[in-house]
Formats: sequence, C-alpha cells, structure tokens
Amino acid sequence: MTTPAHQNPERHQVVVIGSGFGGLFATQGLKRADVDVTVIDRSTTHLFQPLLYQVATGILSEGEIAPSTRTVLKDQDNARVLLGSVIDIDLAARTVTSQCDDTTTVTRYDSLIVSAGAQQSYFGNDHFAEHAPGLKTVDDALEVRGRILHAFEKAELTDDPIERIRQLTFVVVGAGPTGVELAGQIAELAHRTLDGTFRSISPKAARIVLLDAAPQVLPPFGAKLGSAAARTLQSKGVEVELGSIVTDVDALGLTIKDADGNTRRIEAACKVWSAGVAASPLAKQLAEQTGAPLDRAGRIGVGADLTLPGQPNVFVIGDMMSRDQLPGVAQTAIQGGRYAAKHIAREVGETSPPSERAPFHYRDKGSMATVCRFSAVAQVGRFEFSGFVAWLLWLAVHLVYIVGFRSRIATLLSWTSSFLGRGRGQLTTSEQQIRARSAVTGQHIQFDNPFLAHRTTGVQNPPSGTTAREAEPAIRAS
Ligand SMILES: Cc1cc2nc3c(=O)[nH]c(=O)nc-3n(C[C@H](O)[C@H](O)[C@H](O)COP(=O)(O)OP(=O)(O)OC[C@H]3O[C@@H](n4cnc5c(N)ncnc54)[C@H](O)[C@@H]3O)c2cc1C
Repeated sequence: MTTPAHQNPERHQVVVIGSGFGGLFATQGLKRADVDVTVIDRSTTHLFQPLLYQVATGILSEGEIAPSTRTVLKDQDNARVLLGSVIDIDLAARTVTSQCDDTTTVTRYDSLIVSAGAQQSYFGNDHFAEHAPGLKTVDDALEVRGRILHAFEKAELTDDPIERIRQLTFVVVGAGPTGVELAGQIAELAHRTLDGTFRSISPKAARIVLLDAAPQVLPPFGAKLGSAAARTLQSKGVEVELGSIVTDVDALGLTIKDADGNTRRIEAACKVWSAGVAASPLAKQLAEQTGAPLDRAGRIGVGADLTLPGQPNVFVIGDMMSRDQLPGVAQTAIQGGRYAAKHIAREVGETSPPSERAPFHYRDKGSMATVCRFSAVAQVGRFEFSGFVAWLLWLAVHLVYIVGFRSRIATLLSWTSSFLGRGRGQLTTSEQQIRARSAVTGQHIQFDNPFLAHRTTGVQNPPSGTTAREAEPAIRAS
C-alpha cells in the first residue's frame, strides 16, 4: 500500500532523513522556522551511539541512551515523526519514499536534510557479522550483551577445560574508541562485577583480547594518548594485539594473520566487530543522481555549504558525507545539522536560488574516549589529557549531550552505582537478545558450540584430542 504523507501544500516542507545526531539537531534548529518538518527514521528513537558499549556491558539500559524521538519532539509543533526505512530519494520529483512493513509512504520536500549515518563495515567480509556483531544499534548492543553474559553461563556449565577457556575468551576487533571502551568494560565486568557470582568458574580468568591491524590503539588520538590507553588496558588485564589482521571469523573463533606473515587462531565464543564503517547506501543513490563523488567508505562529497551539486536545497550531513576530511563524530553531525537548519530557516520564501551562504565551518571541540572506570583520554585543541582528569571531562560532556533531563538523571544514577560500587543494573539478557541476529535476519544460526553438540543432541563425540576447530566441519556435516 502506497500512501502520500499528510502535508500542508501551502507551507515549506523540510524532510529530515535520520533521527540521529545530525537529524535531531537539524530538526530542533528549525523549531521557530516557518516550515513543516517531517523526520523519517527506521527506528523510533534518537540513539546516543557513544554509550552503546555501556548497554552492551550492562551499565545502562537501552532506554537511557535511546529516548523516543516522538517524545523528544513532542513540544515542537512544526515537527512530525514517521517510522520507515527510506528506500528511495527522487531528486527530480523532490520526493522521499519510505517503507514500514507493508506500508510505503511518499513524502514531498522543498528542502531535504539527509543524515542517515553509517553502518558497520566488514571490508567485504559481510559473513563475519553472523559471528562477530558490530555495535551500531540498540539491537546490536543487546545482542552483544546477551553473547557476553551467555559465554560466562556456558563456561559455568561445561566441564571441558578447553571449551571453558574458549567461552571465557572475548575478542574485540578494532582498537578505535568503541573497541577500546568495550574491551575495558568487558574486563571490568569480568574482574569486578561478576567476581564471586559463579561457583565453577572464576570470571576473573576471562581473557579479553583487543585486536587491530594498525600499529597503535586509538590512532586518531596520536601516539602518546594511544600508548597511555594501551597501558591502562593492559593494567586491567586486556591483551592488546596490534598489527594483526583478522582473515576469518567463525562460530568457534578467529583466524588472524600477524605482521610477520604467520597465521594463527584464537578460539573464542564471543567476538565483537568494531573495525570499520561504511556510509548509508543512500549516499550511493544520491551520487548516482548528482555525479557527486563517493570516497572509500562510501561517503558522498558535498560542497562548502554541505549540499549536493546542482541541488542547493539538499543537504547531506554527518557520517554519510565527506568534506575536508572531517571526522565521523557526533560534533560533525550536530554542527552540520544546525548549519543546514539555519540556512533553510533564513531562506524560506526566497523564490530565487539561495543567496550566498557562508561555507560550513567545523569547530573542533576535541575528542575523548574512556578506557575504563576513572580513566579516559582526551584531546582538546593542543592539550592532551589522560587518566582521571580526562575521565571527569568525559563524564561532564556526555551528561550534557544525553538528550532529556530524565535520561541524564537515570544515567548519572547508573554510573554512580557502577563506577563507585561493583554492581551493574542491566545484566538481564533474554533468549531474544542472545539469538537476536537470527530473529532479525530470519536465518537459522547455530549459536551454541557445535563442538559440544553431542552432549545435547546425541551427535557422535569428536575423537579425543580433536580441537574444537578440527571437529567443526565433521559435526556440521552430521
Ligand atoms: C559505538 C559508537 C561509539 C561512538 N562514540 C563516539 C564518541 O565517543 N564521540 C563522538 O563524537 N562520536 C562517536 N561515535 C560517532 C557518532 O555517534 C556519529 O558520528 C554520529 O552518530 C553521526 O550522526 P549522524 O546523524 O550522521 O548518524 P546517526 O547518529 O548514526 O543517525 C543516523 C540515523 O539514520 C537512521 N537511518 C539510517 N538509514 C536509514 C534509512 N534508510 N531510512 C531511515 N532511517 C535511516 C538510523 O536509524 C539513525 O537513527 C560513535 C559511534 C558508534 C557507533
């Protein structure tokens, strides 16, 4: 069923694709403008991605970092929210087509702001995703939480020492901010929160590996802060393995090629991928219609005013655009959103092409990443901080940018209990979370270890002395 969106033909219509950082700040920037704004997103929330790792490790609930967009925009009378995945942008017809289940909606625009972000990239190895989910959405975070905690449960159940080690081995691929933060928090979960909660295993025995092909952790932060972060991680028991390329990921573990050319395996039940990003496929659609270039990450090149060639009313902002090597961070999206909103508001009603727009100027407010409880690294202008001071800075900045007073208070309470105490309030996992990927993709995924399938299914025992890796094909075939 295809329906046109309810729109007032008398008023200037702005369509915003995406309710992430760029989309939300653009919409809010149009609050007092003489326009109607339609925000279209495939999720119902405004997701604060930088804290996804805390949902994955049981510190925060998904509601704390992903408030309902509808609720956030409740008091903005000129904004409406539509649930739907954008499948087509027709620049000639000035329409956006979105789909929600079997309902297709066509929304007309006078101005368009595209802020559909980026998705995980497996560098052409998309099949890795089945065994190493990324961390981009609430679904991802809940699935990762399910996988982490399920691995401890499986370790408690087995009396096979090799399998126990495999279950207690956690590998995070990608030593950028997300990988560093996640590895640090898995270590604290294992060594502090879960300590004393199992009877057959010691969660402290968990092995946490942070892998990257790059020669240092946190490359954008420079060598000094990268080394500081690596040292802190190591002091928390995280093994940092650099110069290592993952060549395969399967149910049982990973195959890795080291800088010296040697290939080796890490047997690990729980793997998480945080190694790369690719822009929303909508960038390619727009490039085909305008001739704008795409970079290696699929981001579309935009002009100095963040618009597409020949389309002064179409802004592309945030993670899916490429301009002056701006970083793919929240501030780029926020500032881009505000810039687009300011110009649309100013130019409403102009019949001629937009008057001269001052070029978009990005203001670098610095970057930061937590390494673990009470320790972070931060870069603000020429200044570099690490340790507790950087962590306090991180805390303050994140509290400012979390959307909504209620979420801020709830987050602060959760942090107080997790960082000052040992507890984490969000250690609940459900079958749905643990097996989320099969539910979302409709695939059947054998999440449990096939090596142990004989214990529950009666499949023949692998020959003694067989490693889990060797046994895998035989058991799969049976
Ligand atoms: C785990 C993680 C940690 C991060 N940590 C930091 C950090 O510490 N500091 C920092 O500055 N940045 C961080 N970032 C990056 C930051 O979150 C992004 O740069 C920022 O979110 C980009 O904003 P955006 O509006 O371009 O995209 P997003 O915020 O990703 O929003 C895109 C929106 O578009 C929607 N969407 C996508 N495709 C479609 C479609 N076809 N139809 C409808 N809707 C669609 C999505 O559902 C989403 O709501 C992190 C990112 C991740 C994933």
